[in-house]
Amino acid sequence: MADPFGIMEKQQADRSLSVCCQCSKKLLPDEIALTRKLINRGASRFFCLSCLARHFELPESALEEKIRQFRAMGCTLFPPEDS
Ligand SMILES: [Zn+2]
Repeated sequence: MADPFGIMEKQQADRSLSVCCQCSKKLLPDEIALTRKLINRGASRFFCLSCLARHFELPESALEEKIRQFRAMGCTLFPPEDS
């Protein structure tokens, strides 16, 4: 399998899995959960909110709203908010 991103992916895995695979921004647990929910439950590469927003051509606020909805539905991917 000729994956042009294979090398990059390995380098990233060595550093940390919890950075955006597009812009290398450090990810929040919610962003990882949202990537799983919107793209693939078994995703191994994650996107930050702004890259997800660009990918789905949605405003970031719409994605924040989705996070709130998934959490309200009791989705296990989203850790409960401690407030
Ligand atoms: Zn990003």
